Amino acid sequence: MAGEPQDDCLFCKIVEGHVPATIVRETETTVAFRDINPQAPTHILIIPRVHYENAAALASGAPEVAADLLREAQAVADDEKLESYRVVFNTGAGAGQTVFHAHAHVLGGRGLQWPPG
Ligand code: 5GP
Ligand code: ZN
Repeated sequence: MAGEPQDDCLFCKIVEGHVPATIVRETETTVAFRDINPQAPTHILIIPRVHYENAAALASGAPEVAADLLREAQAVADDEKLESYRVVFNTGAGAGQTVFHAHAHVLGGRGLQWPPG
């Protein structure tokens, strides 16, 4: 069922504490942790505790939690003392999505090229 934990999902396992992660912030609805393969000096993933395949599915199924992710992006940026930062939601394998549990990448701490690759 939409939102229910998935046995084969890495990020559900991180939410449940079954896979370790360097957690930097937690709320009732979200968990934020450092990306294992950082692409910038600050590279943090923010995930909803509930399982949805991507950001759009989350926004449809639990819109208040999608908003929480964006609020948490600012909170992470504040904690990391980032004046500017980028939030990325890769959606679909062709765009580089490899984990099909919605997540926001928060990137900062270096110049960020626009348009992105
Ligand atoms: P995507 O490619 O789906 O947009 O983002 C998935 C992200 O999860 C990648 O940036 C990847 O480095 C990160 N990642 C994959 N496995 C792990 C893990 O076990 N722990 C952490 N902290 N990050 C992971
Ligand atoms: Zn999941």
